[in-house]
Amino acid sequence: MAGRLLASVDEAAESLGTNALVCVECLRAWTEPDERWRMYLTDDDPPEAIPYCPDCAAREFDF
Ligand SMILES: [Zn+2]
Repeated sequence: MAGRLLASVDEAAESLGTNALVCVECLRAWTEPDERWRMYLTDDDPPEAIPYCPDCAAREFDF
């Protein structure tokens, strides 16, 4: 999936609320505030924010 890094998950959680964050790949909910999740924007218009858990972000984006 193409996309660009939107913001730190802290900023995203601030606007969305942590319980709104579910990994788009494994559907795991973000329950650990210490985990560094990533938010990506799709190329759609308007762009959609896509959350990735650390495991899936590493697999998808090879960080
Ligand atoms: Zn995941």
